[in-house]
Amino acid sequence: MQVTVLVGGVGGARFLQGVKAAAGPGDTIRAVVNIGDDIWMHGLRVCPDLDTCMYTLGAGIDTEKGWGRAKETWSVREELEAYGADPTWFGLGDRDVATHLVRTRMLRAGYPLSQVTAALCHRWSPGVDLIPASDDRIETHVVVDDPADGRRKAIHFQEWWVRHRAALPAHSFASVGRDEATACPDALAAVADADVVLVAPSNPVVSVNTIVDVPGMRPALTAAHAKVIGVSPIVDGHAVRGMAEACLAAVDVPVTAEGVGRWYGPRAAGGLLDGWLVAPGDGAEVPGVEVREVPLMMTDPDTTAAMVRAAYELAGV
Ligand code: GDP
Ligand code: CA
Repeated sequence: MQVTVLVGGVGGARFLQGVKAAAGPGDTIRAVVNIGDDIWMHGLRVCPDLDTCMYTLGAGIDTEKGWGRAKETWSVREELEAYGADPTWFGLGDRDVATHLVRTRMLRAGYPLSQVTAALCHRWSPGVDLIPASDDRIETHVVVDDPADGRRKAIHFQEWWVRHRAALPAHSFASVGRDEATACPDALAAVADADVVLVAPSNPVVSVNTIVDVPGMRPALTAAHAKVIGVSPIVDGHAVRGMAEACLAAVDVPVTAEGVGRWYGPRAAGGLLDGWLVAPGDGAEVPGVEVREVPLMMTDPDTTAAMVRAAYELAGV
């Protein structure tokens, strides 16, 4: 069976661990990964969601934080701070820097991000093909009121998320570069060839929707012969981890499994979903979408695998 999963960072990576744990011998897993968080930092290309997936599946992740390298040290950050080199709010770990150096060198030599990612994955053997949603640059920006002078401006998603901890109210999100971008051909093939497409319980606004809105992706999802089954990142009216609630508020979507399911919408009407997994007691009604209640806490890969099998059952695969 060919499984294709749309994923962001931490939630996506944990979900992929469950997809791996649920896989049979002949199954192949491809992940279409969000690139909206990507950023140039001190001259290095940083791809947080791709790296979180690669490190998590390759057993190189800091399991406590859920992102970054295990046993990380921070000499580079301290030295940059000593120079007063802005920005200081984004910490590049010493081990992590090596990944960004290799990536940046290959990008500068002309390789597309998808090939660069495959080269980096050589070392980590994630057991999943990690495919950037696009080889082009698409970066999420957030429209906020500048706390200094009250003027409205757009800042990079990372500045909003990491520096301001998503506490500055977001008026809207913009995908800079999207109009000139196209989906990665491998990502389109992964959707077209899939026997089932899963939507990880990733941030609906800045992970999943950012992928779906890459030119070419939505038509590919609409045309896919596979069923598309989503998993709710909202349980009992809250994001399970992190600050996704601030993103949903900005797009006027209720922080409920039903709210997110309706926002994704039924595939038959140009939306994303055929099926939607919600947590027990979250009983959602999403017209045109088959909803199932199953436990949705990703406490370990085996527990997550049960969630994945429920998605397969709903898809009939
Ligand atoms: P990010 O890019 O690192 O922010 O990670 P993602 O976008 O992939 O995932 C973030 C989302 O994962 C958050 O909105 C959480 O609600 C969701 N999440 C994290 N852990 C769990 C879990 O155990 N169960 C479910 N259902 N969602 C989770
Ligand atoms: Ca992310």
